Amino acid sequence: MTQRVDDPVVTVPVPGTGTRTSTPADVDGAVDRARRAFTQWSALSARDRARLMLDVRRRILARVDDVVDTIVAETGKLSVEAVVSEVFVACEEITYYAKHAPGFLAPERVRPGIFAHKRAEKRFEPLGVVGVISPWNYPFVLSTGPVMGALFAGNAVVLKPSEFTPGVGVLIGDLVAEAGLPRGVVEVVTGDGTVGEALVRSPVAKICFTGSVRTGRAVARAAADNLTPVLLELGGKDPLIVCRDADLDRAARAAVWGGFSNCGQTCIATERVYVVEDVYDSFVDKVVNLTAAVRQGSGPGHDVGAMTHAGQTQIVMDHLADAVERGATVATGGTSVLVGGRPSVTPTVLVDVDHSMAVMRDETFGPVLPVMKVRDEDEALALANDSPFGLSASVFGKDPTTIERLVAGLRTGSVCVNDVMVSFAMPGLPFGGARDSGSGLAHGPEGLREFTRVKSVARDRAGLRREPMWFPVPRSLERLARGAMRLRYGLGRHAR
Ligand code: NAD
Repeated sequence: MTQRVDDPVVTVPVPGTGTRTSTPADVDGAVDRARRAFTQWSALSARDRARLMLDVRRRILARVDDVVDTIVAETGKLSVEAVVSEVFVACEEITYYAKHAPGFLAPERVRPGIFAHKRAEKRFEPLGVVGVISPWNYPFVLSTGPVMGALFAGNAVVLKPSEFTPGVGVLIGDLVAEAGLPRGVVEVVTGDGTVGEALVRSPVAKICFTGSVRTGRAVARAAADNLTPVLLELGGKDPLIVCRDADLDRAARAAVWGGFSNCGQTCIATERVYVVEDVYDSFVDKVVNLTAAVRQGSGPGHDVGAMTHAGQTQIVMDHLADAVERGATVATGGTSVLVGGRPSVTPTVLVDVDHSMAVMRDETFGPVLPVMKVRDEDEALALANDSPFGLSASVFGKDPTTIERLVAGLRTGSVCVNDVMVSFAMPGLPFGGARDSGSGLAHGPEGLREFTRVKSVARDRAGLRREPMWFPVPRSLERLARGAMRLRYGLGRHAR
């Protein structure tokens, strides 16, 4: 049930799990234990590790109620969202890598170029201890994703979950231990940014950070002191473009789901919509009607749950106030509510918006869908790219040439065509941001290899007494090399 209140800034205690906050000394101990476990874990073959990782999936399924209850208690999302968008996706990721990781990690032969008498190969070796820092919005899948990826690749992990969702992090550590993986291979430390910073400054081999752009910059700065590599999965301001020939029913339903599922607290949520003027009125009518029908509350029978914490709710209310002050109209929603005791905002559609407003420029991370009328698809593309973010985007339309122009022109890490947010749930498709939305990839072979060091091995096979360029340099070497270059590359205009 939702309860309307006047003031959204009601402090609601984040449901705790009684988890003790770690100290920086605890972080050092956790990294030490993980380093010891790394020796044992990395000595296993990729196939043996994959087998054990399937035992982790078995434990997740055996304790699915505990997992879902903990996610719901700490975030205020609906249990259906926890099952569909977190546990299911996490199990798919494990299943995918259990099948493919041994292949992705197998040494790869490389052509030796002019050295026909040698053999060259790439090996993918684990890094050591990986530090994983995760956010609160999808506390399970955004922790298991990097944790499991690092484990599949042979690393040990120290996980620092969000201070809003420590219980989910602790549970992940328990599930891994119950599956029989070596003790210490996943250590969990809890606490706020000070504990996160201690982990970044500890002697880990890599940091995988998922969170806001602001914290991502701080993490990159702190990591630079030790030259620790960082993988950054940061925020977004994802645009959705509705072309003149779009299926408006599907586009409207997609925009409403993309904007409001998980109460809009999704990095790849639809955060702004650009609609070609010919179909604007019709699209807005549909979106407003669908939004007004969204059932917000806690427990079964609802479509959308609560916002997780009051600070985020305040940001959303600030964006709404700023937009209205600059001329936006609230077409539906815009009300502060208590959902399951948490201050939240009703699903909101804004029209008469422009890029002077924070709601079109900054990450809102709440249930707000601003819809802007544009002249044509080219203007939509220009506005979609008028942002420092570049996480994901959606395009709705039929003409293949226009769709292709938009897909190619969008400066984002991923694009969904006639769909929203689905790309993340495909474990074989690399996921990552462009520009301020981050660097590095999750998922697919690329995502697994983020947790490896590529070792290049060149091996002599001929066993000659000496190579032609070794000392003493033969007098003929330079002439032979010049002749070989001419032969190999040619001198004509069309030579390759
Ligand atoms: P946040 O940046 O506030 O916190 C993320 C994590 O960083 C938390 O665990 C926090 O304790 C820790 N932290 C804070 N300060 C730190 C510091 N100085 N050093 C190290 N760690 C520190 O983000 P949030 O509010 O938890 O999550 C929401 C943000 O995450 C949004 O911007 C959202 O778009 C983004 N996000 C991105 C992705 C993605 O895959 N690109 C996915 C989900 C969320």
